[in-house]
Amino acid sequence: MVLSHAASDSDASVHSTFASRYVRTSLPRFKMPENSIPKEAAYQIINDELMLDGNPRLNLASFVTTWMEPECDKLIMASINKNYVDMDEYPVTTELQNRCVNMIAHLFNAPLGETETAVGVGTVGSSEAIMLAGLAFKRKWQNKRKAEGKPFDKPNIVTGANVQVCWEKFARYFEVELKEVKLSEGYYVMDPEKAVEMVDENTICVAAILGSTLNGEFEDVKLLNDLLVQKNKETGWDTPIHVDAASGGFIAPFLYPELEWDFRLPLVKSINVSGHKYGLVYAGIGWVVWRNKEDLPDELIFHINYLGADQPTFTLNFSKGSSQVIAQYYQLIRLGHEGYRNVMENCRENMIVLREGLEKTERFNIVSKDVGVPLVAFSLKDNSSHTEFEVSDMLRRYGWILPAYTMPPDAQDITVLRVVIREDFSRTLAERLVIDIENVMRELDELPSRVIHKISIGEVKSEANGDKLMVTVKKGDMEKPREVSNGLKKLVSDKPVFC
Ligand SMILES: *Cc1c(COP(=O)(O)O)cnc(C)c1O
Repeated sequence: MVLSHAASDSDASVHSTFASRYVRTSLPRFKMPENSIPKEAAYQIINDELMLDGNPRLNLASFVTTWMEPECDKLIMASINKNYVDMDEYPVTTELQNRCVNMIAHLFNAPLGETETAVGVGTVGSSEAIMLAGLAFKRKWQNKRKAEGKPFDKPNIVTGANVQVCWEKFARYFEVELKEVKLSEGYYVMDPEKAVEMVDENTICVAAILGSTLNGEFEDVKLLNDLLVQKNKETGWDTPIHVDAASGGFIAPFLYPELEWDFRLPLVKSINVSGHKYGLVYAGIGWVVWRNKEDLPDELIFHINYLGADQPTFTLNFSKGSSQVIAQYYQLIRLGHEGYRNVMENCRENMIVLREGLEKTERFNIVSKDVGVPLVAFSLKDNSSHTEFEVSDMLRRYGWILPAYTMPPDAQDITVLRVVIREDFSRTLAERLVIDIENVMRELDELPSRVIHKISIGEVKSEANGDKLMVTVKKGDMEKPREVSNGLKKLVSDKPVFC
């Protein structure tokens, strides 16, 4: 008898996953397999494939929390099997979410008495929070227009072109026009004056961003409020403001308590914040709070009776995990104002170390601001032979994940690299990153230029009626035709054009 020297198929004798047949069969990718496999093998195989993902701690692209204390990890694991929506069964979890809403509303200076309950809700992230806030504005505006006997079928929102993609989603999913204030080279946030000019009778709200995704800059919500108060007085409208404080909502109250951006401004009716960004919780939690009960139309709220009390719910999803709510409560009471302030100050200090390190190389223009989310956004002073995308690619080899992206219109000729400084990014890492960037620059100097002297993405069409140059630009998975500023000039010149 000839014995096969491949591993035996009799699993009874196989105790090592690596000696089993499971590591030499290719994994199912399309159809669910017919048979089961041992749990050890499933674990090992999946774990090993996941090794090829980047290391989240070195992912400098993301604002989202990648480290929490082991004590909180324990709480998270202990509640991973609780469905948040079962409020009858888990009344304490519900109570913890309500406490978080109250604390966040107070943090944002909602006009509340000491023991008054705030109006707000925990969400999956700022995206869901923004959908809810947007729906509340849309419904309020529609109700008012109906009552006045005016048409209510063309709602719009005014924002800067720097808005996060979730606003574009809101606009498309819920049929609201997004009127974007264009940026310009050197000015990468919404200009409040231009925004207020764009407001009309169909504007359901102006959305300001506290902490632009692109360069961390805070928009001037106070100026926006003052200009809009004036415009409302002149027109008789009452256009409100929403603040998208996804990244800045847990920064401004601790680093810049005097900055007025929140419910201290009368037209600010709702604010969202991502618990999973500087709220310091792992991915999967956001918050939206309203100034008053009147700002959230009652018909959008579903009432659930739990233990005799009325639990209003207003979310897009029904079931979800409880862990993130519990983790947020942990962070709020564990750190308190003192802890959050210290964390944010450390982030800011390390941001300065990184920024100064980059400035010293004399190779970069810094496009992030001193006041804002602790991040450094920078572009090459000279990108005629190598681009920011190449810098990003080459840093991957050192383990760093740093995104490069182009600015929205009309600043699309600018490409930036962005490093978000999170809690777990220490000074040592900041110094290390500067050294590695210097190394990359030295390597690039020795490489031949790979810059392609043509439009790098999209399709170029010149319009029939004039010399307008249109380019189809991809942003996420959306495709938009855009006019290229000075496009023709650039095309005929020898300079590279990156859209
Ligand atoms: C991150 C971000 C969002 C989206 O938030 P999620 O919590 O990821 O859903 C929206 N707006 C801004 C300004 C952001 O930075």
